[in-house]
Amino acid sequence: MRAELVMIGTELLLGETVDTNASYLAQGLAEIGIDVFYKTTVGDNWLRMTEILSQALSRADVVITSGGLGPTMDDLTRECVASILNYPLALDTEALETMRQYFHTIGRTMSQNNRKQAYLPQGAVAIPNRWGTAPGLIAKVSGRTIFCLPGVPRELKGMFRETVLPYLAHLANESRLVSKTLHFIGIGESQLEELIKPILLTQSNPTIAPYASYGEVKLRISAKAQSNAEALALIKPIEQQICAIAGKWLYGVDSDTIEGNIANALMERTQTLATAESCTGGLISHRLTNIPGSSTFFERGFITYSNKAKMELLNVSEQLLQIHGAVSSEVAVAMAEGARKNANTHWGLSVTGIAGPGGGTVEKPVGLVHMAVVGLDYTKAEVYRFQGTREEIKYRVSQVALNLLRLCIKE
Ligand code: ATP
Ligand code: MG
Repeated sequence: MRAELVMIGTELLLGETVDTNASYLAQGLAEIGIDVFYKTTVGDNWLRMTEILSQALSRADVVITSGGLGPTMDDLTRECVASILNYPLALDTEALETMRQYFHTIGRTMSQNNRKQAYLPQGAVAIPNRWGTAPGLIAKVSGRTIFCLPGVPRELKGMFRETVLPYLAHLANESRLVSKTLHFIGIGESQLEELIKPILLTQSNPTIAPYASYGEVKLRISAKAQSNAEALALIKPIEQQICAIAGKWLYGVDSDTIEGNIANALMERTQTLATAESCTGGLISHRLTNIPGSSTFFERGFITYSNKAKMELLNVSEQLLQIHGAVSSEVAVAMAEGARKNANTHWGLSVTGIAGPGGGTVEKPVGLVHMAVVGLDYTKAEVYRFQGTREEIKYRVSQVALNLLRLCIKE
């Protein structure tokens, strides 16, 4: 079954409103295994709406629209659909009564133009709206079905979940699309794709889609089947094949995070951690303390931005800073050691670098970051060169530093 989304509203084309409704609808449809082949956005304009809706109804089994059901002059969806289907608009007395009740409940009188919202193309069925005024509608034409929903996200979501999804799940014969996302770090998107190419070339069900995300690469494996269990059984062997090839860079699945992974590893080992951050300004500590229960492993974080702070709080020697500079491997190691010693923890993690946009030199360019992990009789220092804006660099540094810590703990 093919579905198509038509998002109506000039505010969407002006960029004033971000089209969150489309992603909500698309996700819901994917969950029940309905393919969305097209999504179009159109302004509140009769001619262009007619054009797009006719096209959608000519190529999709199911069309879902969002917006344009309001009481004002620029809300044209009802009229437009009626005109395309060639059904006259007729007053749905039940829908009118429901609207009267709604206004009564919220203690307001219904204005005359609200009446317009109870007119539906003849033969269409109203979709109850318990979250607002405008009822939606379901109309059928030559084997195809069009669902019209209001643009207000709260109303659209409620009506989609309550009425449209069950209706469609029935039509789609309950086939479902189940996805599993694998998270990789320390490997580029193209490198990963190259490695798993033999699997990618033979994919059909499940399908595999690599995509680069903020500071990591993801692989989404999606399988279509009659049940969740069946879909998961299709995903499993593919996941195993991918892990056999690229498991080295895999840090988690679905909603797993690197910080969550570290939290589990430290809690399992009843070990503790202190951080010493310069260019990330506390972001690493922030991410670690987002994990519930972080007090069991996270002892403290030092934000030592200035050289003075590095000396005072981490006992980094003035001589070291003068000889090597704050952004150096030697200072990174001294920071991690100072954090570990002063906080009396198992592990110390440090980062020091130049987040930009200013402050770079030929020798030490913007994006240059040194980091170190120290443990009992253990020291690991690495250097990276990051690209991006100041904020992007900070996030990427936190991602890579957390991954370094994760690997060190595992070692
Ligand atoms: P309704 O059909 O309920 O009257 P409408 O499109 O006619 O909806 P608008 O006034 O255009 O009503 O939109 C109502 C609210 O919903 C606005 O705040 C608008 O920004 C928001 N909205 C409309 N379409 C979308 C969308 N696709 N995604 C997210 N928000 C949306
Ligand atoms: Mg609108």
